Amino acid sequence: MNLTIRKVIVLGSIGSILLLGNILLVANWLVERGLVDWARHLRSEYLTGTAITIIVVLLILLVSPKVGARGLVRRCPVCDHVLLGRGRYCGECGSKV
Ligand SMILES: [Zn+2]
Repeated sequence: MNLTIRKVIVLGSIGSILLLGNILLVANWLVERGLVDWARHLRSEYLTGTAITIIVVLLILLVSPKVGARGLVRRCPVCDHVLLGRGRYCGECGSKV
């Protein structure tokens, strides 16, 4: 966690607290601008159960390779041998990981 992420977290929490404090004001403003009706229309037209399911499945499929690479189980980029532990060289082909 570096400094930029911390700054974003602090600013985000301050912003969300301010937003929560004025939530009725924000809601009224959104209704006045017609955003609520527009969002309702979008939800009923496009965000059916099937569409949401497809979006969730796509997100899972897109994210899973990164999760695998960051987890304990890594694979050699050369021979695809499964690497256990944090060694820097592949035990199968000897290439640097
Ligand atoms: Zn290898």
